[in-house]
Order: sequence, then C-alpha cells, then structure tokens
Amino acid sequence: MPGFELFGEQEKKQVQDVLDTGVLMRYGFDGMRNGQWKALELEKALEERMEVKHAQLVSSGTSALTVALASAGIGAGDEVIMPTFTFVASFESILAIGAVPVLVDVDDTLTLNPEAVEKAITKKTKVVMPVHMCGSMADLRVLKFICDKHDLILLEDACQAIGGTFEGKPLGSYGDLGCFSFDYVKTITCGEGGAVITNNEKYKTNADHYSDHGHNHVGKDRGAETHPFLGYNYRISELNAAVGLAQIKRLNEFLSIQKKNYKVLREALATIPEVTFRKVPEGGEESYAFLNFFLPDENSAKRAHQALGNGGVDACFYWYDNNWHYYRKWEHLTNLKSLAKLPQEVYNQLLDYSKSDFSKSDHWVGRTISCLIKLGWSETEVAERAQKMTDILREILK
Ligand SMILES: *Cc1c(COP(=O)(O)O)cnc(C)c1O
Repeated sequence: MPGFELFGEQEKKQVQDVLDTGVLMRYGFDGMRNGQWKALELEKALEERMEVKHAQLVSSGTSALTVALASAGIGAGDEVIMPTFTFVASFESILAIGAVPVLVDVDDTLTLNPEAVEKAITKKTKVVMPVHMCGSMADLRVLKFICDKHDLILLEDACQAIGGTFEGKPLGSYGDLGCFSFDYVKTITCGEGGAVITNNEKYKTNADHYSDHGHNHVGKDRGAETHPFLGYNYRISELNAAVGLAQIKRLNEFLSIQKKNYKVLREALATIPEVTFRKVPEGGEESYAFLNFFLPDENSAKRAHQALGNGGVDACFYWYDNNWHYYRKWEHLTNLKSLAKLPQEVYNQLLDYSKSDFSKSDHWVGRTISCLIKLGWSETEVAERAQKMTDILREILK
C-alpha cells in the first residue's frame, strides 16, 4: 500500500485507450468505444483473481458497502453488527440505507470479537460486517458459523486487506458478500473506485441495477431500459476502471513486495521482548499492507508513537486517538448529528454509546501501533527503517 507509488507505463496505456475513444461512461455508446470496455474487463479480472462468480464495480469502497447492503435487501430497522475499530464508511453505509449500526468490541485480532458478536444479536440483526483492518482478518470461520446459526448475512469489508486469504480463499470471497476500495491510498488504486464481490447471482443483479439508477441493463439502448426498482448513481467511470485494470494485474507483484518489506521490519521488532504482534486467526494469511504491533500499555504506545514520528519514521499510526477509525471520536454518530432527519428506527434502536463499555477494545487498540508498508522503499531504506524503529522502541522501553 499504496499502489500509486508504482504507477507506470501500464496505467498510462490503459487510460490512453479510453481517452482515444472519448467514451468515459461504462455503459452504452457501443458504436464509439472501439471495443474498449475497461469496467467490464476489470470486473472479469476481479472475478478471476478473487475466485468468485460475480464482481460489481462502483464509485468507491463506501458505495461498495452501501450497494452490498442494498443488494441483500437490508433497510430501515435492520441491525448491522460492525466493529469499534474500522473506518467511518462502515456506519455511513449502514445509515445510508436506513439501517442501524450496532458497535461491537474488537480483540487482539484488531477486528470483530466473535463472542461479542453473538451477544449483540437481536431479532432485528440481519448482517455481520467484519472489517479486515490494516491487512489482516477477523476469524471468519467462527463468524460464518455464527451467521449460519442465526441466519445472518456475512459481509466482509476487505478494503484494507486485498490479497490476504483465509483458509486459502481470497479475503472478501469467504462471506456472502465482500467489498473492496480502490481509493487514492489503497493497495490497488484507481483514484476513486470500489467493488462488491459475491457468488450470489441475485445479489449481483441487484448490485448491477441499484448502482445505476435501477437500470435493468437489458434492451436495445439505455433509453429503452426499464427500472425494476429504485436505485442511485454509484457508477465507476471508464477512466478510473482503466487505472484499476492496470493495477489489478500487478496485485501479486505488490503483495510480494509488501510481504518482503513487512518481514524485515517484523524480524527486527521481534528482537524486543516487550513488543508483541497482532493475532492472525488460524487459517489466515495477511496481505502485509501494515505491520501491527502491541506495546505493553497505552502509555508506552503513546510515547512510542511520538518518538517514532519525531525520529522521522513516517506512516506509523496510533489509531486510538484517530478521528476516522476508532469509536471514541465518533461523536457525530453517537449524537446522531445528521443534516436531515434519519429514519425513526435509527433514533429508537441506536444504543446510547456514552453508556457502553468498550474497555476490551480500548485494551487492545490503546496499545496498538500500525506502520504502513510501502511499495516504493529500496532495500536500504527498509533496513535503515528497521534499525531506527528498534533503536527508538528500545529507548522508550528502557
Ligand atoms: C478505505 C476504506 C473504506 C472506504 O473506501 P472509499 O473508497 O475511501 O470510500 C471502507 N472501509 C475501510 C476499512 C477502508 O479502509
């Protein structure tokens, strides 16, 4: 992460193809497009790479989550279980379709704790949404078991972990639906873009129609198409898809660079006895987009984060104090500050999070530091970084 570090000739060539036709729209204009269907091609490439029957491209990862929920018929009054540690897109997408976000603790995997998930299930629960934060995954085997037992949909947010696997399956393909983001800082980037993947034909058809104003995409031309149901515009443009197409072909190359760089840093930090690493559930293989480690407590983590920054080690994050990623700073959600009135169910059902006890999440996230693994580092840069990080952490822990 991020893929823009290695933009090159392939990306330029794909974009040029589109500009040469002048058709920036993914549908229609058949006569003008000179055989160029970048979005369709990228969907096929994703289906192949992610080993699923269907992929639907959309305009962002946030819209992918919204479209995935809508395609499964989720709406007003339905509850969606999501983690306290994620990105704001999780609850934004849930609220966008009128459903109710239910926050649940994370554990040492830094994603949904299955026991806490089971405790949060009510008659209104419809979806469990694990978010595979910072390159590693939730325990999907246990979550799938819980979902099957309670007849719930398992929707994986794999936006930060593209290329990771669980029990040999690509992340995103294990549940009923999976979502990716190709925004400007993700491992595969096309500026703005996202995708929903699924093996369920009905979900794919729904996602295809819903993301394009409800167009059914059958008929001679767009004007003749009918609308089986209400939709919205969550389309991706051909220009963005073109960049994504060049990037997806390089995913395996990016993953091997991430893994190599990650390994050097991890081996260096592993020599410090007080530093421990995030738990990867059995059967999982990370995407190695981040190296996530624990300090002994909140205080040492805060000091370590400060010292790393001061020492010039960039791109290391302390999520506990972060506005986007951790529930403690989601005042706009907990106070339901909305421009427009939300569905009544949201006011009735949203829990009062000022009274919630998320001390288990605080215990883990308060001690966590996550360092982004970059693609563009030279071998020397990685080695120097490893040395600098260990020196700084040893000093802090003295
Ligand atoms: C980036 C991200 C999203 C949203 O993606 P956008 O393309 O930026 O809308 C959703 N979930 C997670 C975990 C993300 O990191």
